[in-house]
Amino acid sequence: MNFSYWEKEYLISPSDYLVIGMGLVGLQTAINLKEKHPEAKVTVIDRQSWGLGASTRNAGFGCFANVSEILDDLKYDTPENVYLTISKRYQGLDKLRKKFGDENIDYETKGSIEIFTQKNKHELSEAIDSLQGINTILSDELGLDRVFTYKNNSSLPRVIGTIHNGYEGQLNTGKLYRTIYRYAQNLGIQLIGGLEVVSWEKNIDISVITSQQINLKTRNLILCTNAFTPDLIDEDISPCRGQVIVSEQMDELPIEGLYHYDNGYYYWRDIDNRILLGGARNFDSVGETTDKIETSEVIISELKRFMEEQITGRPVSIEHQWSGIMGMGKSKQKIPIIKNIEPHVYVAARLGGMGVALSASVAEGILELIE
Ligand SMILES: Cc1cc2nc3c(=O)[nH]c(=O)nc-3n(C[C@H](O)[C@H](O)[C@H](O)COP(=O)(O)OP(=O)(O)OC[C@H]3O[C@@H](n4cnc5c(N)ncnc54)[C@H](O)[C@@H]3O)c2cc1C
Repeated sequence: MNFSYWEKEYLISPSDYLVIGMGLVGLQTAINLKEKHPEAKVTVIDRQSWGLGASTRNAGFGCFANVSEILDDLKYDTPENVYLTISKRYQGLDKLRKKFGDENIDYETKGSIEIFTQKNKHELSEAIDSLQGINTILSDELGLDRVFTYKNNSSLPRVIGTIHNGYEGQLNTGKLYRTIYRYAQNLGIQLIGGLEVVSWEKNIDISVITSQQINLKTRNLILCTNAFTPDLIDEDISPCRGQVIVSEQMDELPIEGLYHYDNGYYYWRDIDNRILLGGARNFDSVGETTDKIETSEVIISELKRFMEEQITGRPVSIEHQWSGIMGMGKSKQKIPIIKNIEPHVYVAARLGGMGVALSASVAEGILELIE
């Protein structure tokens, strides 16, 4: 392609830092770099028009831990990594709120409730037995008093016990993304959608090759490509699809705040007098191990069933449904990957299912590695 003088000079001139991926991690990484090096040219590109992986498709839980998920995670990773990941999430949430402002992202600390039914009564007794120990560790790690409390009452049907976390909150995913995107634009970061990276070559500079035949040069390259990272480099990441439904508006909602069920595989909250319900990925684990951003009838039907049987207790219309792609560890490890893969090339990925809060910590972690 023959580029104009203007394109060459102002749009595709070499960057000091080129970030691939315009999700929460890519945008915040670029913001941190620009704030540290105001004179540097910082560019973020994405193959989609905006960060169309998980960052604009999540449920808006400002969450950092629930008890049965902690117990499950401890089967696959060391206690150090499990609690370090929780700390990174908690601190990340604090950073997000301080930097972007609760009023801009509609953040509210409404707390979260994990429910248990007969189906998981074994998990409930394990959770009750572990509660005090986990609270003690979290008090040491996060400085929070009694993160989890057990209660045996709930307004929802079939519930035999609940565990409350008073420190979690919810936010508006659209407003969060828009706020961070505008913040990056206002700092003078160049944001370009529609460029898909296929590879890069290293000589004096790094040349990034895109499938649109628009090649960009940079001194430093940072991959914030989460679930899609294995298309570019070999890492312990597997794409996992998450699906979400949103009900019609209701005069009276049966719940308020955040809810989790079945080791966090089902999660729901209120939004604009509606109920947003996501998950059920374990209902078809094989089918949902995919990076195809489309909904599947198997999961959507299961979510509808769960909405009516477990949450509303009556039929409701579903007015919105979508999917997004998460980056999970094939090994089931949840600690994010933040590393230097070769001189001047970095990766910040594997944010898992609680990556909103984690994103600010990951973006700070990668900054510490970049010279
Ligand atoms: C349905 C669902 C619900 C969720 N709910 C919550 C929640 O309530 N709370 C929570 O904390 N977390 C939640 N998450 C997880 C959270 O959204 C993610 O962990 C987080 O957004 C990941 O951000 P990211 O920037 O790392 O990745 P992404 O947002 O996926 O961004 C990666 C970007 O890289 C781009 N890209 C990839 N490959 C290339 C390439 N080769 N060239 C150019 N661009 C490329 C993609 O297009 C994408 O835009 C949920 C996720 C899903 C899917």
